[in-house]
Amino acid sequence: MRSLWSDEAAAAIVTHYGARDIGPDLALRVYTSRLLGGDPRLVLHGGGNTSLKAVAPDLAGVPVEALYIKGSGSDLATIEPAGLPAVRLAPLRELRARAALSDDDMARRLRAALVEPDAPNPSVETLLHAFLPHKFIDHTHAAAVLSLADQPDGALRIADLYGKQVGVVPYLMPGFGLAKKTAAIYDADPAVEGLVLLKHGVVSLGADAREAYERMIAIVAAAEAHLARGRRTVFVAAALPRSLAAPAEIAPILRGACALPDPERPGAYRHFVLDLRDGPAVRNFVDGAELRRYATAGVATPDHAIRTKYRPLIVPPPEAGRLDAFAAAARAAVASFVADYRAYFVRYDAGRGKRELDPAPRVALVPGIGLFGLARSARDAEIAADLAASWVKTVTDAEAIDRFESISEADAFEIEYWPLEQAKLGKAVEKPLAGKIAVVTGGAGTIGLATALAFSDAGAEIALFDRGGNNVAVAAEKLGGLGLVADVTDAAAVRAAFDRVAVAFGGVDIVLSNAGAAWQGKIGEVDDKILRQSFELNFFAHQYVAQNAVRIMLAQRTGGCLLFNVSKQAVSPGPNFGPYGLPKAATLALMRQYALEYGAAGIRANAVNADGIRGGLLTQAMIAERARAYGISEQQYMSRNLLGREVTAEDVAQAFLALALARSTTGAFYPVDGGNLAAAPR
Ligand code: ZN
Repeated sequence: MRSLWSDEAAAAIVTHYGARDIGPDLALRVYTSRLLGGDPRLVLHGGGNTSLKAVAPDLAGVPVEALYIKGSGSDLATIEPAGLPAVRLAPLRELRARAALSDDDMARRLRAALVEPDAPNPSVETLLHAFLPHKFIDHTHAAAVLSLADQPDGALRIADLYGKQVGVVPYLMPGFGLAKKTAAIYDADPAVEGLVLLKHGVVSLGADAREAYERMIAIVAAAEAHLARGRRTVFVAAALPRSLAAPAEIAPILRGACALPDPERPGAYRHFVLDLRDGPAVRNFVDGAELRRYATAGVATPDHAIRTKYRPLIVPPPEAGRLDAFAAAARAAVASFVADYRAYFVRYDAGRGKRELDPAPRVALVPGIGLFGLARSARDAEIAADLAASWVKTVTDAEAIDRFESISEADAFEIEYWPLEQAKLGKAVEKPLAGKIAVVTGGAGTIGLATALAFSDAGAEIALFDRGGNNVAVAAEKLGGLGLVADVTDAAAVRAAFDRVAVAFGGVDIVLSNAGAAWQGKIGEVDDKILRQSFELNFFAHQYVAQNAVRIMLAQRTGGCLLFNVSKQAVSPGPNFGPYGLPKAATLALMRQYALEYGAAGIRANAVNADGIRGGLLTQAMIAERARAYGISEQQYMSRNLLGREVTAEDVAQAFLALALARSTTGAFYPVDGGNLAAAPR
């Protein structure tokens, strides 16, 4: 690790913010905060914090001595000056004389000291910055330093490596106590350049932005060099089955095993999205013979506990061809994880009446495969997996020199259930499809994309399948989802695409089989080839999609939702549309067959009969031609239904969303056509 400081970049940022009336100190505070935040070896996902002491005008314009400190909700990698709210320093420094200060009191005093009353909450580590005298202070949870600090004799190791350069602070929960202790240790030797907080992280001190930043880099680089010296093979591998099952086979089993029954909706589940990591470092870790010892030893730094929990789930390696055995073992492991978590809560809550968090694992380790991060969204699963991968590195390096040791389980509980820490996760109300994974075929088309947007707005993660590579990539990007090029008339391609979704997200809950195209021809004269082509896309493709969806849903054992886009042609044939209507009628029957045969597994199957959607199969040229044939305007043509209103792709999307949420509806054929009794199901 080396310093990324650049005089040119520093000057540029000073000029940039100078034009916005922001002084050079705060501009450089932003600059080095971003340098720290941009390196995952130092800071991950909103971790770490930085500060600056400077004179700031208060609301009345009177200059006051202030501490600019990272506010909650900011990420050092992308921080702006507004992400560093100013707090008055004098009232914070006075607090140091107190013997004790409750967390509530601390939080209220921090807010009261804000120069701007509506600024974000200052970091929970604000007092640590306030009680130290330096103008610039940087704090990270650097993985390499933690490998030395997370040891039974961490204090000795730090002292041996750094000598008088760095002070050593014993573990205390973040907050007032840690701030006081750190300041006292600093006062005992004010020559130090930084402080290592055992089992937590590292602080560097500087008179200017560059000094604090480069001291951080020097401390971390020394730890890295120490860990690289005389490196030995760390973990001896356990015996694994000769042939392992594929990640695509085991992810849905694991995901289903971790899903929690929804307390508000009997028969429904709260699902998690999975994020797999399987690089060499992770494999070396999860394949180790002593996995259970070092993997259950605890977190690398207390901050991780809210996203990873104190311990991960560990399941046995999955043998190829023996998925039932893996499923049984995974379910047993989850049941025991949940029971242990509940016991942990009762043990450490000790009657204080805290509200128990959900007991499902946030990290799962699978020997022979890798690690999975679990969360209620793909983004949060990615964060959990990133933190777990960093923890793997810290533990591996710690075990390479001696033995990894974390904070105690009791200390982890205090952090996991600390209201100030939980506040970092936010309190947004969850959306109805949070944690669900939806596949939409024909995903770049009008109806497919409108429905994918509706599912995404309702909280689902989205995978789009489409033939058009470019279109599907653009559409998926818009949704933050996965875009896959897949010809749905090719059974093997459909299987491969579903497997990619299972690896990317862990499984699938909702599938809209939407891809279709209209072939025409008078039925008595039409070429066989046309009819067969239409059957390939308008019937067999639906069967391939539904088959693969059901394959994954059955592995999850948490039900599922199949949706088919069926046309009015299925029940109300139009002249010359036989080649289109016949396979659509078969697809309507297909939907009912799935409803019948998989209802017992909780899998629902429903269809929408959409008609007259502009931009779907109905091209602008077709609309113009038919309006001319009827001798009416295009608008009149598009509104020929009982409601006299043009039906839109958004109407169809809302119907699919309603069916996805209708937990007691299966086998239904739902018209979205503005009213057309000739096409009404009967
Ligand atoms: Zn910290």
